[in-house]
Amino acid sequence: MSVRVRFAPSNTGHLHMGSVRTALFNYLFARNQGGEFILRIEDTDRERSRDEYTESIIEAMQWLDMEPDEGPILQSERFDLYDEKVESLLQSGHAYRCYCTPEELEAQREQALAEGRKPKYSGKCRDLDDTPDDEAHTVRIKMPTEGSITIDDLVQGEVTVSVEELDDFIIRRTDGVPTYNFVVVVDDSDMDITHVIRGDDHLNNTFRQIPVYRALGVEPPTFAHLPLLAGLSKRKGSAGVQHYRDRGYLPEALINYLSRLGWSHGDQELFSREELVEYFGFDSVGKSPSNFDEDKLNWVNSEWMKRLDPSDLARRWVPFLEDKGFDVEFDERLAEIAEMMRDRAQTLVEMADVSAYFFSDDFEYDDSAVEKWMDPDHRPALEALIEGLEALEEWSGDAIGSLYRSVGKEHGLGLAKLAQPTRISLTGSTTSPSVFDLVAAFDRDEATSRLRRGLQLLDE
Ligand code: GLU
Repeated sequence: MSVRVRFAPSNTGHLHMGSVRTALFNYLFARNQGGEFILRIEDTDRERSRDEYTESIIEAMQWLDMEPDEGPILQSERFDLYDEKVESLLQSGHAYRCYCTPEELEAQREQALAEGRKPKYSGKCRDLDDTPDDEAHTVRIKMPTEGSITIDDLVQGEVTVSVEELDDFIIRRTDGVPTYNFVVVVDDSDMDITHVIRGDDHLNNTFRQIPVYRALGVEPPTFAHLPLLAGLSKRKGSAGVQHYRDRGYLPEALINYLSRLGWSHGDQELFSREELVEYFGFDSVGKSPSNFDEDKLNWVNSEWMKRLDPSDLARRWVPFLEDKGFDVEFDERLAEIAEMMRDRAQTLVEMADVSAYFFSDDFEYDDSAVEKWMDPDHRPALEALIEGLEALEEWSGDAIGSLYRSVGKEHGLGLAKLAQPTRISLTGSTTSPSVFDLVAAFDRDEATSRLRRGLQLLDE
């Protein structure tokens, strides 16, 4: 039977980094096994579910290049199926109608707590003879009363729970809405899911779900419960995919970074998508929680910025430059600037910050650099340089380099004496990439007019 996995987020918020890691392990496992990856939106929570979050989740999955083979399938469109399954469990005697009122249940709960027992449904309605359908009721599943339940989890290993821990939980509420632990089983069996891969916060649910599979007469799937991620910001929305996208992270880097939270392949840190698909397996997924470490993510992102083709990088950079108010379009020159500046930043936002002087001449000059390098005695050499640039036949880093060397020689000045005033004039400071490439990255008029403006600093 071919592998089928699903990622089943609730649409009660934006897609969170922890959920992306769950989605990713599902996706990688499916691709590694040549199986199918299904997206199911768990939108039965009438109070908290929102269509805008469904859209946001789909958008995030597209941006991360993890589009499902099937779906999104919405649980809210499947109530007929859930009702049909509830009815069949009632018929077969695996479920029963419960008429206990919320007040009664609360009183039972308090009594249990007062007697030092774990609160559990009493089973009062389990064996009623008269079970009218037209009186307010919930439907409960009959849990086994003896023995234990064991799963052989791909990550957690063998885990056993005594059935005493479980009670006859509600599968359909009084208002007709089925509950999570029930619909998840109906869906996973209806969709022929072979492997349920999700956070280990669901481990307790799994023991409730297994008797439901059995009651429905189907074999439970294989489970893999992933340790949760620690260290993610709890501020609303701040651990969401779009928040990272807007802060200038690349999808390749997020995927690469998240893949390593809980999974490893020797000590390799950087992986292409193809490598992840090829190497991924649960043998190398660990049980202990991993920490979401933004410094490490920054490093992975900076590595991915270096890996991308400069034109590709520049195209992705444009919106970040626009956000800073620069009027730019993708062209070859932008690709050159991106290639030159990518070593100096860890995100696309930072790269826009450190590259601002390419797009605007509205910058401050660094006083101490001006003091140190803008020497009035060098005016003739700097003027010769500007004239040389104006007359240069070919506007390239190489041609500009030879011009600098010959002007330096003529005026008896070392290269730094020309290079540093150039940097200050073009960028405001002496920190910048190789000076010839820097000059070449401006168009000629812009470079020479900034250099002329810089000459005024000689008199200050
Ligand atoms: N909707 C559940 C969640 O977001 C998914 C549970 C599952 O994968 O079974 O946690």
